[in-house]
Amino acid sequence: MTDTVALERLRVTASTCTLCPLAGGRTQVVFGVGNPTADLLFVGEGPGREEDLAGEPFVGRSGKLLDRLMAEEIGLTRAECYIANVVKCRPPNNRDPAPREIESCRPYLEQQIALIAPAVIVTLGNFATKLLLESSQGIRELRGQTFERGAATLVPTYHPAYVLRAGGEAMAEMRADLVRAKRLITAARRTQAERAPQAERAPQAGHP
Ligand code: SF4
Repeated sequence: MTDTVALERLRVTASTCTLCPLAGGRTQVVFGVGNPTADLLFVGEGPGREEDLAGEPFVGRSGKLLDRLMAEEIGLTRAECYIANVVKCRPPNNRDPAPREIESCRPYLEQQIALIAPAVIVTLGNFATKLLLESSQGIRELRGQTFERGAATLVPTYHPAYVLRAGGEAMAEMRADLVRAKRLITAARRTQAERAPQAERAPQAGHP
């Protein structure tokens, strides 16, 4: 089974999930969207009202800003990367997801990361950053740095909803974080390209 097939099976499994109380208030599970073999994975917090109705993450004003910044600073569309959330179902009244809900949903996100195997993970805001770095520090302290996370490099940045509210400096800092992510993706692709010919030249066992 390829990782793409496994990711689709995971999506189907998640679509009927009732592991936490958020199942009771959702219209549908918002699993994630994009290229299942993407180099870049964005991880946000959870679906809002528009995402819950559309079944896709980041489709409202925050999503439009994310689309614009990823095009301007990284040169990618949302179809070329992958976008997921910490929790896959909408918290009522847009409240924060509760710790129990985050832990219940975490295996889906960890499996998405394992199957997509991105070179770079950009966490959007406090919830995704704290979860994936297992840190109690907030996004203001953590952004501007990069972290190794398994085989990927993690770049923390603000949630676009915060940037919409804060504007100015926060927008400039998020742009800088995305430029940092672009450099990391470029470096990872270069390394992959350099390794590919070596792998082709390597002798095959059993073929003299
Ligand atoms: S938020 Fe996650 S764990 Fe909770 S019901 Fe939805 S898919 Fe299941």
